[in-house]
Amino acid sequence: MVRRLDKQFGGEAWDKKRIPPDPLDDLMRTILSQNTTDENRDRGYHTLRDRYPTWEAVMKAPLAKVKDAIRIAGLANQKGPAMQGFLRWLQEERGALSLDFLKGLSGEEGIGLLVQHKGIGIKTASIVLAFACGKDLCAVDTHVHRILRRVGIIDERCGREKAHTILAPLIPKGKARSFHVNLIDFGKTVCQARNPKCDVCPISHRCAYFQQAG
Ligand code: SF4
Repeated sequence: MVRRLDKQFGGEAWDKKRIPPDPLDDLMRTILSQNTTDENRDRGYHTLRDRYPTWEAVMKAPLAKVKDAIRIAGLANQKGPAMQGFLRWLQEERGALSLDFLKGLSGEEGIGLLVQHKGIGIKTASIVLAFACGKDLCAVDTHVHRILRRVGIIDERCGREKAHTILAPLIPKGKARSFHVNLIDFGKTVCQARNPKCDVCPISHRCAYFQQAG
């Protein structure tokens, strides 16, 4: 599955060329991305950064103003306090608004540290650690979760949190990040939520959903 999807979607080559984002920028953007579209996440993020160019300014801004800036990204009443709460914790705990220290931790340690905070689940933590800190992790978002269930890697009732634990040891070393990227592209273009295109799917021979339907 890893090999076939990479052949079709080229996530590994893309991953090698990209420039990693700053970890704190990425965490804030990923919190904003929950339950919204990429477009509205970006609009919320850019409005916030235009009004408050530093994370210190975001941390010190009145909560109502932060919520107002990110409103387009939805759930502002949860996301605003989560972002400011994390920034305050980071300042107090580390004395600086930087998450660069995460690069020196293992993926597991990084997840353990991040998920203690409100508004940061294992998916958000895995995305930041993978894409901004170079960790070999595959976040299970809605696309990945749907595909894993259809293929039969996890059962129907398995939640997203548990899916991370089941999936991690199955992925060949060094391939988790590109696998995630390939799964997202695959989920958006082939194994879509409605009407998956099983007739052109490169992994249909391994898919429980396809076998049952056939
Ligand atoms: S065969 Fe169909 S359901 Fe199975 S992974 Fe491919 S597109 Fe998805």
